[in-house]
Amino acid sequence: MEYALVTGGSRGIGSAVCLKLAKQGYNILLNYKSNDEEANKSKTAIEELGVQCTLLKFDVSDKEETNAAISNWMNSNKSSRIEILVNNAGITQDNLMVFMQEEQWNNVINTSLNGFFYVTKSIIKSMISNRYGRIINIVSLSGIKGLPGQTNYSAAKAGVIGATKALAQEVAKRNITVNAVAPGFITTDMTKDLDEKNLSELIPMKRFGTPEEIADTVVFLASPSASYITGQVISVNGGLYT
Ligand code: NDP
Repeated sequence: MEYALVTGGSRGIGSAVCLKLAKQGYNILLNYKSNDEEANKSKTAIEELGVQCTLLKFDVSDKEETNAAISNWMNSNKSSRIEILVNNAGITQDNLMVFMQEEQWNNVINTSLNGFFYVTKSIIKSMISNRYGRIINIVSLSGIKGLPGQTNYSAAKAGVIGATKALAQEVAKRNITVNAVAPGFITTDMTKDLDEKNLSELIPMKRFGTPEEIADTVVFLASPSASYITGQVISVNGGLYT
């Protein structure tokens, strides 16, 4: 049984990624932190596509919780393997640097950057022994160009970009690719408080993107068609200069 693990799969971009991978025939391990209702809705929609979906509720920023959830699943599903890992879970806690609390800094770094480390570390060994894997990290325009009010988030996402490039070179000879997708402004809960009309004026395509437009790029990077692409950051942002 071939599985794709998607962190933060209950809502937004992660949920769209789960659905598109399910359409490709992958069984889904759907991680989320707390929103049971949205996770169950996504699970139902995934299962309607004829594949299995297992909910794995854990906080990616918590090393013990992450290790326990993934190793328990692996131990009780020895004939299954995780071929695709999408590190998508992320949060924003914006503030100007002068006002930023240490807690806001740590929460954002712990979720995106340490979360990437804990989840990937739990899975990379099995991908190496299977001599196959696709790792796709969801980063951000903010991690490429930096955005004011987001020193924590820009630092976290830039960190994941560096890790993507380094890990890609470590595991390339094992037939494992590691890439990142950098969305611009995408309509999800994360951006619901932004002034979409005014911000859209800054985007050459004059609109926010959809979660499905990010998911299409993730599915491509996970597919055999992308077998010679690794260590790359693909921007999906409607033409915003990065
Ligand atoms: P949403 O806020 O819509 O969804 C976030 C998802 O992440 C939820 O499934 C949530 O779970 C999960 N999550 C949050 N924290 C944790 C945690 N500690 N452990 C496990 N799961 C967690 O976000 P988006 O879909 O907008 O964003 C997805 C990714 O895309 C993020 O990494 C974000 O930084 C990135 N991104 C988004 C952009 C945008 O414009 N929307 C732009 C650029 C990048 P639960 O439902 O349980 O809360």
